[in-house]
Amino acid sequence: MPKHYDLIAIGAGSGGLSIVERAAQYGARCAVVETGKLGGTCVNVGCVPKKVMWYGASLAHALHDATDYGFNIDIKGFDWAELKAKRDRYVGNINTWYHSFLADSDIDEIHGYAQFLDAHTLAVAGQTYTAEHIVIAPGSRPIVPDIPGAEFGITSDGFFELQALPERVAIVGSGYIAVEIAGVLNALGSEVTLFLRKQHLLREFDAMLREGLMEEMLNAGINIMPMTQIARVDKDAESEKLMLHCDSGQTFEHFDALVWAIGRAPNSDGLALEKASIEVDNKGYVVVDDFQNTNVPGVYAVGDVIGKAQLTPVAIAAARRLGDRLFNHQQDRKLAYDLIPSVVFSHPPIASVGLTESQAREQHGAAVKIYQSRFTPMYHAFTSHPQKVSMKLVTVGAKEKVVGCHIIGLGADEMLQGFAVAIRMGATKKDLDDTIAIHPTGSEELVTMR
Ligand code: FAD
Ligand code: NDP
Repeated sequence: MPKHYDLIAIGAGSGGLSIVERAAQYGARCAVVETGKLGGTCVNVGCVPKKVMWYGASLAHALHDATDYGFNIDIKGFDWAELKAKRDRYVGNINTWYHSFLADSDIDEIHGYAQFLDAHTLAVAGQTYTAEHIVIAPGSRPIVPDIPGAEFGITSDGFFELQALPERVAIVGSGYIAVEIAGVLNALGSEVTLFLRKQHLLREFDAMLREGLMEEMLNAGINIMPMTQIARVDKDAESEKLMLHCDSGQTFEHFDALVWAIGRAPNSDGLALEKASIEVDNKGYVVVDDFQNTNVPGVYAVGDVIGKAQLTPVAIAAARRLGDRLFNHQQDRKLAYDLIPSVVFSHPPIASVGLTESQAREQHGAAVKIYQSRFTPMYHAFTSHPQKVSMKLVTVGAKEKVVGCHIIGLGADEMLQGFAVAIRMGATKKDLDDTIAIHPTGSEELVTMR
C-alpha cells in the first residue's frame, strides 16, 4: 500500500522546503523528497557558501584599504583551507537544522530520487508514494559545454570543492556566477582571466552597471577577453596546466583551474514527466501558468525548474503563495514576477530592480526620464584604490513614476531592498525627493538626485 499525503514536494531546496513548510502550517500532511542534501543549491552550493566567500574577498579589500586609514598592517597570507573548513561547518549546521525542522513540523523526509509513475504517484528508491498535490521543485544544474576537453574544467559546484586557492584561473561566462567567482578569486590572490563569448558582462543589465563593473574589474587586475569563444581544452600531462584553444585560433595557457559559468539547465529530464504527461518547453523548463499550475491538475512547479528569475527568494515566494492558495482558501494568491530586485555579489556589488534604461525607452519612448549620479563614496576618499558608485533612476510619465533603480558600488547590496518596496508601491521621483536623506551615506544620493 503506497503511503499517501496531501502534498509531496520533489526537491528539498528553496522552493520544495518552502511549500511543505507553508502547507504543513495549514495542517496538510506533507513529505519532501531529496536526492542530495537538504537546502538545495542555495544552502549547499549557491547563495550561502558564495556569500561567505564574498565576505572573505571583501575583507581582503578592506585589509588593503586599512593602511590608507593609518593602520600599520602586515598581511601574512590567507588560509583558503581554513575558510573552507569553517564554511563547510556552517553549511553542515544548516543541513542539520533542516532535518530537525522537518521532524518538528511533522513533515516526512524521503531520501532518494523521485520519478513520476502518474500524476499523483511517485516512485522513490523502490517505494511508491501518492499525493493529492505534487510540487515539482528539483532546481537546476550548471551547464558544461559540449567541446573536447570540457571535463578538465569545473563549475560553480566544483569551485566550492577547491581545496586551495588556484594561482591562475580561467572563467568562461558573463553572468552572475562568472563575475561573482572572478571577484572572489581576484581579491583572494588568484590571477583571473574572464572569457566572454560576446562583448559585454551581464548583458541583460543596465548599460551603466555592466560598463561600471567592467571598468572596476579591469582596475582590480582581472583580464577580460571579450568576443572569445573556447573551442577546445587541453591538459598538459606533466604540469597538469590547462590550455584553452579559441575558435579564432588564439591559445591561452598555464591555467591551474578552469570554471564554466555559462548558465544552468533545469533538472526536469530524469523525473519521467512524460508518465504524467507534464509539459516542458524546448529547453526542458516545466511550463506553468501564473498560479504555478502545470498543464496537469494537481501538479505544480516552482523555482529554477520553471526558468523564470532563478533566485532563492523567488522560489520561496512562489512556493509560499501556492501553499496559501491550496490550503488556506486564498484563491487569487500568486507571485507577481515583475519588479524582482536582485544583487550581483561582484566586487563592487550591483543592485538592480525594474526596467533598464533601454527597456524603458523601448516600452515608453519619450516619456522616459533618467536621473543618474556617479560619485566617489566618502570611504574611498581615503583609499588608494578608489571605486566609484553609480546610480540610476528610470522614471516614466509626467508623474515620473520610478520603474527602475540600478546601483553599482560600495553598499549597493544593502541599499536596494527598501527602495524596491517603494517602487513596488508605485513611488514617484517626488516621493523620493520628499524623503529626508540619511547623512552621510551613499544611499542618500537616491533621494537627492537632480
Ligand atoms: P534548488 O535549491 O536547486 O533545490 C532543488 C533540490 O531538488 C536539490 O537539492 C536537488 O538535489 C533536488 N532534486 C533534484 N531532482 C530531484 C529528484 N528527482 N528527486 C529528489 N530530489 C531532487 N540566488 C539568490 O537569490 N541569491 C544568491 O546570492 C544566489 N547565489 C547563487 C550562487 C550560485 C553559485 C548558484 C549556483 C545559485 C545562486 N542563486 C542565488 C540561485 C539559487 O540558488 C536558486 O535560484 C535556488 O536555489 C532555486 O531553488 P529551487 O528550490 O528551485 O532549487
Ligand atoms: P547566467 O544566465 O546569469 O549567465 C550565463 C551567461 O553566460 C549567459 O547569459 C551568456 O551570456 C553566457 N554564455 C552562455 N553560453 C555560453 C557559452 N557557451 N560560452 C560562453 N558564454 C556563454 O548564468 P549563471 O550560470 O551565471 O547563473 C545562473 C543563474 O543563477 C543566474 O541567472 C541567477 O538567476 C542565479 N544566480 C543568482 C545569483 C545572485 O542572486 N547573486 C548568483 C549566482 C547565480 P552572453 O549571451 O552575453 O554570452
